[in-house]
Amino acid sequence: MTEAKNLLLDLLKFDTQNSDEFDNENLFRGETIEALKFIEIRLKKIPNIKTEITRYDLENYVGTIKETFTNRGFLIAHGDFNTLLPNILFQGHIDTVPFGEFPGNPLGEFDSNLIRGRGACDMKGSLTGMILAFEKLVNNSNRKFNPILLITSDEEARNFAGIKKFISQNTIPIEFAICGEPSNFQIFNKFKGVTSRAIKIKGKAAHGARPQEGINAIIKSNQILTLLEKYANELGKNPEPIFKSDSIHSQYSTLNVGKISGGIKVNAVPSTCLIEFEMRLVKPLSHYENELEEQIFSQLKETDYKLIENFSFNPLLILEQNNPLLKNLKKSIEKEIGEVREGVMEGFSEATLLNLNEICTIVFGPGDLKYAHSSEEQIPIADIEKYIDILVDFGLNTPSPTNL
Ligand SMILES: [Zn+2]
Repeated sequence: MTEAKNLLLDLLKFDTQNSDEFDNENLFRGETIEALKFIEIRLKKIPNIKTEITRYDLENYVGTIKETFTNRGFLIAHGDFNTLLPNILFQGHIDTVPFGEFPGNPLGEFDSNLIRGRGACDMKGSLTGMILAFEKLVNNSNRKFNPILLITSDEEARNFAGIKKFISQNTIPIEFAICGEPSNFQIFNKFKGVTSRAIKIKGKAAHGARPQEGINAIIKSNQILTLLEKYANELGKNPEPIFKSDSIHSQYSTLNVGKISGGIKVNAVPSTCLIEFEMRLVKPLSHYENELEEQIFSQLKETDYKLIENFSFNPLLILEQNNPLLKNLKKSIEKEIGEVREGVMEGFSEATLLNLNEICTIVFGPGDLKYAHSSEEQIPIADIEKYIDILVDFGLNTPSPTNL
């Protein structure tokens, strides 16, 4: 009880807020590197451990002013590699969303069997579990895999810069990875796809006193918004059974219009308007490209708009029969909590990027997602301990895939 409790309270003391809003002064004096160094000092006490903090800077423009973050980095730790064993990555992030209106102390407090604080659930709780399980496994001669610990930052903001830096530099072969985002002990081995797009609507500028001489791009956007809304409603009627789970939403694709911008000032006819929307996908991207064409773009004049694709990827499935390590992990989960529940990762995470770079990754962590990012962020200590037991059991008692 005390080991997990103390370590989590220690991690929460570091202010590692992260946000894409650059006017938040806390982000510049954030303690990300200090938190990673604290963990590194702890790990260095273990014999034969190799640790490294890779630092990087991030740049961003606020208007025309360039701001540079210099306190960014990721930590990697491992022991001596037994080349007969697979390498398994435990990955978590140290950054948190901003404190916001956090009641009580966002830097952590113990409350009977719970710990509250910003990041307790997402995801310093699972980091605590991963660090303690790593310590128990790394030099254990009975271990069935070589554990590698990876702690990144910039997964709550900055477009996943931390995991991307790791992926671009990594030379260690990794057979399997567990991303500890809170899943309340469900295994997320199915990942929705995504496509992020923008539609630029073209109009014609004119003086606001003579609107008849211009073409108002904001008014023209109305037709597209109506078509997008209709299409979004239809998506909600077409389930894909492979993505069925406890969550009622998981088997449907979704479409969200997230941002609209246009016009310069009130006395001018706007010549452009930009609609930005995003879709979460349960079928291959090409399916939706055809539908978007049929239901939306075929109804519009080609000269009226320009379609911009920001990024897209197809849904991902990790099938158990292809993956003995996942099967082994399930045995350990069943042993500790009596059942194995599988779910769908509906949002984007580091796990998606690892999978897209050929590191087979599932999401599996303690903590209930409903508390992540909320003003009630918390995690029961017992959940962290259960998590440690599962990871250690997975590391010691399951047959290595070479014996299967
Ligand atoms: Zn997270």
